[in-house]
Amino acid sequence: MDNREALLGKTPEELRQVVEELDLPGFTASQISNWLYQKKVAGIEEMTNLSKKARAMLQDKYVVGRTTPSRVQTSVDGTKKYLFPAHRNLFIESAYIPEENRKTLCVSSQVGCKMGCLFCMTGKQGFQAQLSAGEIINQVLSIEESDQLSNLVYMGMGEPMDNLDQVLKSLQILTSEWGMGWSPRRINVSTIGVIPAMRRFIEESEAHLAISLHSPFDEERRRLMPIQQVYSIENVVETLREYDFGRQRRISFEYIMFDGLNDTPNHVKGITKLLNGLRCRINLIKFHSIPDSPLKGTSPERMQWFADQLNKKGIVTTVRRSRGEDIYAACGLLSTKTLVKKED
Ligand code: SF4
Repeated sequence: MDNREALLGKTPEELRQVVEELDLPGFTASQISNWLYQKKVAGIEEMTNLSKKARAMLQDKYVVGRTTPSRVQTSVDGTKKYLFPAHRNLFIESAYIPEENRKTLCVSSQVGCKMGCLFCMTGKQGFQAQLSAGEIINQVLSIEESDQLSNLVYMGMGEPMDNLDQVLKSLQILTSEWGMGWSPRRINVSTIGVIPAMRRFIEESEAHLAISLHSPFDEERRRLMPIQQVYSIENVVETLREYDFGRQRRISFEYIMFDGLNDTPNHVKGITKLLNGLRCRINLIKFHSIPDSPLKGTSPERMQWFADQLNKKGIVTTVRRSRGEDIYAACGLLSTKTLVKKED
């Protein structure tokens, strides 16, 4: 088994420590970060402006840390689901969603998830491990369409706010000039509303924020999302009201639609009251059935009706097109529970 440490995911500061320990010249750190994040090499031997000796010393203790996907599935609609090995013999999934005007990658931030949302396959998997910043970045770098990507969403497996240190570090690498130079306006991070971490995210990052709403009513949301017992959606929205997000930064609410459960006129009223005056938009999402769940999805016609009602109330609402359902890449369907990697 290879116990060498990954360079991918390290900041310039951390790379300086690496070169100091190896007694290499200080400027080697910025050369390495350039190879990792701008030239996007997969191996230390490709860092050709480092001396052979420097490369050999690095290779003794380190690897770049890129992993290639173990499996790629393609949907009839062009969506692709990538399976990546993660540490401790586990796997994660990422979904590549090509559309006419944008090419989006949905990345995972954890293996599994501990939040237990009723409608989510990842929640059923339970929590298995945190991903490192390098493992998050690897998903962006190691898909076939890496150079075509225009947007990133942290909406894959896991709750990003439950692994915030690594998520923030990955965002720093993605958006820094020394890193991959992404605009934070092309990145959207989702949360079910873990308030203390959400505050830190708002203060330390400039990426867009998407909140999983799913019901404006306490009892009902508790049944769907256990987090409501700790951080209620009312308190999440009150917290958001404390911040000035400027015109560039977007707050959106994700709303999965369940037939007869959260798609009534009363819910339109409840949402309107909850979000009154907050500059935001709502995305309505089709529920994709999961095994052993009594929940059923709302019909497309009813979803459009719901969107129209909210739009009439002045809340910009769109119905999000469902993608990748046939390969279990659609929202709420990612799971790697049954997959365990064999030891190398
Ligand atoms: Fe976790 Fe998100 Fe699934 Fe809830 S919806 S269980 S937070 S991955």
